Amino acid sequence: EDLDKGLEKTKQGFFNKLGRAVAGKDRVDEEVLDELESVLISSDVGLDTTIKIIDRIEARVAEERYLNTSELNEILRDEIVKLLAEQNQRDFDDYELPTTERPAVILIVGVNGVGKTTTIGKLAHQFKQRGHRVVLGAADTFRAAAVDQLGIWAERVGCDFYSKGMNTDPAAVAYETVQYAMKNNCDVAIIDTAGRLHTKFNLMKELSKIKRSVTKALPGAPHEVMLVLDATTGQNAIEQAKAFTEATEVNALALTKLDGTAKGGVAIGITDQFQVPIRYIGVGEGIDHLQVFNKRAFVDSLFG
Ligand code: GDP
Repeated sequence: EDLDKGLEKTKQGFFNKLGRAVAGKDRVDEEVLDELESVLISSDVGLDTTIKIIDRIEARVAEERYLNTSELNEILRDEIVKLLAEQNQRDFDDYELPTTERPAVILIVGVNGVGKTTTIGKLAHQFKQRGHRVVLGAADTFRAAAVDQLGIWAERVGCDFYSKGMNTDPAAVAYETVQYAMKNNCDVAIIDTAGRLHTKFNLMKELSKIKRSVTKALPGAPHEVMLVLDATTGQNAIEQAKAFTEATEVNALALTKLDGTAKGGVAIGITDQFQVPIRYIGVGEGIDHLQVFNKRAFVDSLFG
């Protein structure tokens, strides 16, 4: 239900465009496929993924000789579901911790403004609801606002908070957050990091330094590195996914602000192009507006 609401703009944009593209046409022909290609691209599905989808529909048209435009929705939905299923990424059913070991350590990365702090707060809330003891670590020490905001979220959620203030060494904060989690029997430590995408080399250096110090505090940690992406930025989100997955080993994605955008198609492109599953989607500013991403539910909701 929240998902349907969250996808409203994407859905409207997509089907309005699709409707216009096939208006007055009965048969799926070259021209309709060209139009469909434009619709997918302008819905931020991404070029590579769009081409894959169009090729498949083309093959189907060739095979069946006559396809009615009224079937186009169904065919498109089928092909998208099949494409995403090929990724072999399992869907998660709930807000699961990434390991059975305690504490589980989750490192959060992403550029400023994408909704990192908010996503951490929402995630902490879900974990807390499930009976876990949570600590948030403020290792984004470059912005005073980031440290303050994280503290406010910790208070709101009612979880622990570890901070050394602004301009302190992020790797030290990360290390000590893990130590704090171990000493205080926390089930999970969620560590915020600075999102400065100046150069890939620096990004790599910063992230690996933080990662190393986390591993030093607890071998095996971090158990998850989650990249937060803003859906409203469309293709920029895909570029950021590229940069971060090249800079460090990212194993989960959170896609925020789906409620505010018609660019929800970016979820399809990201799922298709990266070997990293989308774990969560943000569908609003409220504490409850974080959902576990399910590919099938997403496509169903888009076409429902
Ligand atoms: P950060 O700089 O990456 O830490 O970004 P913040 O967490 O401070 O979020 C930036 C803005 O985006 C804030 O106004 C949030 O309320 C808003 N925001 C975050 N996630 C969502 C979402 O899923 N939907 C909407 N509509 N707004 C969001």
